[in-house]
Amino acid sequence: MTRGIVLAALGLLFTTQASTAADKAAVTWHPANPRVGDVAWILVKDVDDTATVEGSVDGKPLMFFPYGGGYAALFGVDLQTKPGTHAWRVGIVEPGREPRSAQGSVRIVRRDFHVERLTLPNTMVDLDPETERRAVAESKQLATLYRTITPERFWRGKFTTPVGSAGAGTGFGARRIINGQPRSPHSGSDYSAPRGTPVVAVNAGKVALVAEFFFPGRLVIVDHGLGLYTAYFHLDTIAVAEGERVERGQTLGAVGATGRATGPHLHFGAQVAGARVDPTTLLGLSLID
Ligand SMILES: [Zn+2]
Repeated sequence: MTRGIVLAALGLLFTTQASTAADKAAVTWHPANPRVGDVAWILVKDVDDTATVEGSVDGKPLMFFPYGGGYAALFGVDLQTKPGTHAWRVGIVEPGREPRSAQGSVRIVRRDFHVERLTLPNTMVDLDPETERRAVAESKQLATLYRTITPERFWRGKFTTPVGSAGAGTGFGARRIINGQPRSPHSGSDYSAPRGTPVVAVNAGKVALVAEFFFPGRLVIVDHGLGLYTAYFHLDTIAVAEGERVERGQTLGAVGATGRATGPHLHFGAQVAGARVDPTTLLGLSLID
C-alpha cells in the first residue's frame, strides 16, 4: 500500500475528534449535530497554511478559509433540508506531501417550525399577471446573486444584531398560510421596531444589491464573501450604495414597511451558498477570530 492510500484510510476513522498525530485529517463539526436552518461549520485541524483544502456536503462544495491552525468552512442547512444523515468529504493537498482526505456523515436534526396564519389585502396576495412576472423575476435575481460566490472572506469576528434596540428576531422557518392558502416558508427573521430605527450591517462585507422589489420593498443585500450573504428588507430609507464596503455595525438604512409588510419591521435573512438559514444562528456562531 502506498503512503497516500494508508493516510486516506486513516482519515476515514477521524470524523469527529481531533487527533494529535500530524498525518491524519482531523475533521470536526460545530455544532456536532446541526439543526435544520442552522449555520454550522466544519473544521479541518492541523493543516499547514500552504495547503489547499476542498470539500463538500451532499456534493455541494464548501468554501474553506484558514482558521485556528487549520481550515474552516461554513455550511448552511437550508430550511427545507431533510433531517437525517448527510455525507461529507474533505480533501487536503499540501506541498511535498501525499494528498489526504476524509469522509463521513453528519446528522442533521429536525426542528419544528410553527404555522403562521396571516390575513393580508388581496392585492398583496393575488397578483395580476404583470406583477406576478415582476415578483418572479426579482426572486430569480436574488437567487442568482445568492449563488454567486466571491472567493474572498470579508467578515471577521462576532456578528452583531441588525437592529440594536429591538428584541430577538422571530418567525424563521414559519410555514405560512396567507388568506387561507399555504405559501413558501418564511426564510428570514423579523425584528419589530419603529419606522426610522437604524438597521446596521451584521458584519463586514460589500453591498451587493440595493433595490426596491415588490415583496421585499426597499432592500440591501450584503456579500460577506465565500458564499455568505445577509439581506435587509422593507427598509424606509437606504444609506449605502452598491459596491460599497461596509463595516460591522455600519448603518445600512432605516426600518420601514415598504413592500409586503403589515407594519414597520426589519426582515433579516441570511444565505450560505444558496441555503436559506436562520440568521439568528449566525449571530451566535461559535467561530470567532
Ligand atoms: Zn419577514
